[in-house]
This record gives sequence, C-alpha cells and structure tokens, in this order.
Amino acid sequence: MSDILEKGISLRGVTKTYGSTVALAQLDLDLCPGEVLGVAGPNGAGKSTLVRMIAGEERPTLGELTFDGRPWSPSVEWQAVAVVHQEPQLFPNLTVAENVMVGREGTGSRRPRLGSADAAVMEALGIGHLKNKLLEDCSLATQQRTEIARAVARDSKVFLFDEPNSALTAEESDELFREIRKLAETGRIVVLVTHRLEDLVAHCNRVAVVRDGRVRTILEGDALTEEGLARQLVVDSTMTDAADSVAERKRDPDAPPVFTARGWTLPGVFAGIDLDGPPNEIIALMGVEGSGARELLRSLAGLDRCSGRLTIGSLSGMEAVDRYTAYVPATRQFSLYSNYSVGENLLVRLGRPEIAGMAFALKKRQMKTLAESAVQRFMVKTETTTQPIRSLSGGNQQKVAIAQALNCSPKLLLLEEPTRGVDIHSKSEIYRLLQTYVEEGNTVLMFCTEVLEIYEAADRVHVVSEGRLSPALSIADYDHVEQLATDITRLEGEQRSGAVAG
Ligand code: ADP
Ligand code: MG
Repeated sequence: MSDILEKGISLRGVTKTYGSTVALAQLDLDLCPGEVLGVAGPNGAGKSTLVRMIAGEERPTLGELTFDGRPWSPSVEWQAVAVVHQEPQLFPNLTVAENVMVGREGTGSRRPRLGSADAAVMEALGIGHLKNKLLEDCSLATQQRTEIARAVARDSKVFLFDEPNSALTAEESDELFREIRKLAETGRIVVLVTHRLEDLVAHCNRVAVVRDGRVRTILEGDALTEEGLARQLVVDSTMTDAADSVAERKRDPDAPPVFTARGWTLPGVFAGIDLDGPPNEIIALMGVEGSGARELLRSLAGLDRCSGRLTIGSLSGMEAVDRYTAYVPATRQFSLYSNYSVGENLLVRLGRPEIAGMAFALKKRQMKTLAESAVQRFMVKTETTTQPIRSLSGGNQQKVAIAQALNCSPKLLLLEEPTRGVDIHSKSEIYRLLQTYVEEGNTVLMFCTEVLEIYEAADRVHVVSEGRLSPALSIADYDHVEQLATDITRLEGEQRSGAVAG
C-alpha cells in the first residue's frame, strides 16, 4: 500500500445532484502526487461533496474519475484514501485509540495493536493521554483530533482534509501542517479544504477556487496570495438584492440598544470587549478559527462563563441570556432532533401554556395547526409536517433550526455560520427571515466565515483577531463585495500585526 500513485487522480465532467440540488456541476480537476492542493470556496460551493467524491463515498451522477489512469473503483481503492471529514465520522462507542485503528482490522481474528507511529501521532495531536477514553465522552475538539490521527496514521496514497483544523490550537495546526507537508513530500496526493486564506497560501502548491460546484480558477505561484484568493471567492456574486434591502431599512439612531456588553472577557480567548446591538440590525462577527469570534458569539449564548457586564432589555448577566437570547449552532445535528418529524422539531422549544394545558386530542390538532403555520411562516419546503426532519434539504433543515430558536421569542438571535451547507435559494430565504425578525425591533449577531454572506445579510461587521474586536465596517458603505473583502483582510492583518507589536 505504501507505493505511490504515478498519474494521480483526474475528475472529468463530474456532476453530483441531490434531488434538485446540484452540488457539483461538470467539475474538472487533476490531483497530482507530491503536492498539496488547496480547495477554497464559499459555503455550499460543493467542497465537501468533492472530498467525498474523491474518497469514493459518493458516485458521480455524471462524469468520471480515474485513479492512476484506471477507472475509479471504490471497492479496490477505498483503502488507498484517508479522509478527515468536516464533521468527524467516528464510532462513539469505541475508545479514541480504537477509532484511530478503525479500518485496519485486516484478516484473521487478531485485533490490531496500537503501534509506536500511532502513539506518536496521537501524542503530537495532544490526545495521547485520552487513548482509552470512550469517544462519546470526548469533546468535539478531541473527536476532530481523533479523526485526523486516524487519517494521518494510515499508510494511504491519498489524504483528504476537509476543514481539519477548525478546533485545533495554533501549535496543533502547525503540527498538522508539518504532517501534511511530509505526506506530500513523500509523493502522496494531499487535498486541503479550508476557509483560512493564510493556511492556503502558506501550505498549498496550488489552490482551486470552487463556486457553484465548479472549479472557477486555480491559483499558484505569484498569483497565490490572500488578496487574490479573497477576490476570487467573491467575484460574480449575483445575489446583491439582499444587500440592497438592508441598506434601505430605516433605523432610529436614538433607540436604545437591544444588548450591551462591556469589558466582556473570556481569559485566554478574548478580553475587554465592548459591543452594542442596536435594534433592527444584523451584526456580523468575522474571524478565523481561534480568533475568538466564534467563542464571543457563544459566550453571549451563555456557553462560557465570562467576566464583564452584559445587559439585554431590563435584565443582566445569565438571567438576560436565559430570557432573551436564542442560539443556533453551526452544526445542525446539535439543534435538530434527527429522529423527530419536521413538525415536532418546529414546536419542540415551544413552552406555551396553550400546548401544555390542553387535552391530548385537542393538543394534537392544535399542534398540527401550529406546525403548519410555522412551515408557512418560515418558508420550509416540506410535503407534510409529519415526515422525518432528515428528509429535508440542508437549507430547509436550517430554516427549522432558526424557527425553533425564534419560538423562544428572543430579543437577540445568535447564529453561527447561518448558511453553511445551504443552497443558494434557501440562503436568500434565510436572509429574508432574519430581516423580518430584526424589523420587529430585535438584533441578530452572527458569526460568519464568508465575506459574501456578510455583504448579503449584515448591516455591519466587526473583525475579531487575537481576541480583539475591530471597529465596525458599515455594509451600506460598500458598492462591491470585493471592496469589503479587501477592507476585512486589511483589518485582520492590521490587528494581527498590532497584536504582535503590542
Ligand atoms: P461545501 O462543503 O462547499 O460547503 P457541500 O459539498 O457540503 O458544500 O454542499 C454543496 C451543496 O450540496 C449544498 O447545497 C448542500 O446543501 C448540498 N448537499 C450536500 N450534501 C448533501 C446531501 N447528502 N443531501 C442533500 N444535499 C446535499
Ligand atoms: Mg463543507
């Protein structure tokens, strides 16, 4: 298995559809041994589908893949490919070490043993001491590290990393990139999907920019810069309607803010943050993983204990959080009940007396009516309210997740990557839902990893870098998303160098 590929992998005219969603559209791409190929693209562009396609986990609807010049055959080739999925795909009822060895069972009844190379990889990723712990008892970060260790410890010809370092520290990321370089230098094919422009520039030989299921351009050599990538990621964005209507929304400059945070501090993550949320506004926080942006959002949902002062309406601290905020995490599995129906998911956070106090039969009928009106109000595309939530597209599942949160009547809605893995049509519907919500006098705070999302949905954006918050950029000041991308990249750079200097 250690012999390497000579000709690499080619994808020609590869199309993948899920129902009416086109995830990949006649995509052409060549993967060459000995290099790290980066893949960049907005949410929903098809990156994860591309990874699963190369791994043989999906078959093309049309088009073909060749593996070293032969037609791709997953039954022969699966052992040759190691994958780090965006959402860890592991076995919760096995230990960390057992998960690292999964797939190596081989023949015979002997159980595989943990070798010294495995131990070294686990040590480098900081999970050595957890090896006998059941995975289900581990944090998401440990699960992600386990998924990486399993891939890296395998003797494969092809290594695919889909957003691998979103939960790693800076040191662990460095370690991972050292491993990645080593794999490429020994003739492996390596693919790295990430949102971090810095990492793409520093660690990739070429970067393919994917949009709408196609490779739009490949940057390499002198053309491979953060600015160049930022520009490519946002060109020919056709959806500017949302941004226009945001600019037109009327605001009362004297209205008191919905929330104020003062001296908001999470030690080691962010410090001394002052932030106001005026009514009728969608505020975006942007920052790479580890910048503190995601953690800042989560802290306002009460997920971390911070010091400082937080006021929402007439309440403060945790009381304000409990009563007035609702949070929708980036990973839909964490907000939706996957074995419940669409209707049950829509109503699950409703604590209304009209449901609690009713006789059962009446209750059922009333719930059906409530669920149906929620389907309409939140533009959920579903045949019935009784079908399983899993049967909906990612975009429609996300609408249900947001509907659930809004059922708690929050004043402040906290969203993490609100349109991750969502098709373009659902995306604009979600933006419309958010606008309707803020027009009622509320505030949305969202953590975004994409400039286009901010341009289309937000009123202003703060960049978080090294745990510090930049002044706000007002989206209405921008006629082009490219300008906004340039300013955000500049702010990020200034804060980084400011932090180093200070
Ligand atoms: P990315 O990783 O670039 O964010 P994905 O490959 O996850 O994008 O998704 C591309 C498109 O395909 C999205 O519109 C997404 O909703 C859809 N999609 C991906 N996987 C599935 C699936 N298993 N079933 C239905 N739709 C899917
Ligand atoms: Mg993805």
